[in-house]
Amino acid sequence: MADALDSAQRDRYSRQLLIDSIGEAEQRTLLTARVLVVGAGGLGSPVLQYLAASGIGTLGIIDDGTVKRSNLQRQVIHGVDDVGDPKVDSAAEAIEALNPDVTVEKHPIRADTDVIESLLERYDVVVDAVDNFPARFLVNDAAQLADVPFIHGAVYKYEGQMIAFLPGGPCYRCLLPSAPDPDVAPSGEPMGIFPTVPGTIGCLQATEVLKYLLDVGEVLDDQLLRYDATDATVTRTPLERDPECPVCGPDGIESLDGVDYSGCCRIEGKSR
Ligand SMILES: [Zn+2]
Repeated sequence: MADALDSAQRDRYSRQLLIDSIGEAEQRTLLTARVLVVGAGGLGSPVLQYLAASGIGTLGIIDDGTVKRSNLQRQVIHGVDDVGDPKVDSAAEAIEALNPDVTVEKHPIRADTDVIESLLERYDVVVDAVDNFPARFLVNDAAQLADVPFIHGAVYKYEGQMIAFLPGGPCYRCLLPSAPDPDVAPSGEPMGIFPTVPGTIGCLQATEVLKYLLDVGEVLDDQLLRYDATDATVTRTPLERDPECPVCGPDGIESLDGVDYSGCCRIEGKSR
């Protein structure tokens, strides 16, 4: 039996505990949950802030970057004094200042196959807050193989998209089997981003994480949500499992061995 909430926790979380479907048991579920956030940038900032504020007990952060002045326009978990510091340190300090109930596990490393496989075993949910195709494909594939929910988000200029890829449902490669050719769509290059768009998409991702952990509402796992800030429209497009998906299809990969997570992330003999 989990410990009861203490008086400070009852006070801290009182506004969410006033919601009918969230009681002390559900709050304990959040306090014992472990969520891995890959990337502490534009999407990772709101994801980490809201998950920390809501009382997720353990937040893992993977990011090997340092805070740059050009990040501050949208990466709101970092401040001027953090410029030059590792993003995992800056984010961890902000989370510690926000909620002492949260334990931060810092992973100041680049996600590779060994790292991601061993880390995923230890988390309940993984959040896609990366800014490049290779890392997104790697985390998707590893999450699929490990049956860990993968909450996808991506942004570009005025637009963003979001969906929760749950075990048994479609995966990111059902949507996009391999990355565009780097000559067509450079990955990891600086790109224009309207400052609030990652905030919007990151909040949606954090919401889906909480809904999944609390088993409330309907997690958005079968439609891709697209948001266009220019005219404030949200559209949802149905997404089904692709029987020829190179990862979750019947002939999909059984391990990450041999998959080249550079460039287009194509899977030999499996990509269409
Ligand atoms: Zn798939």
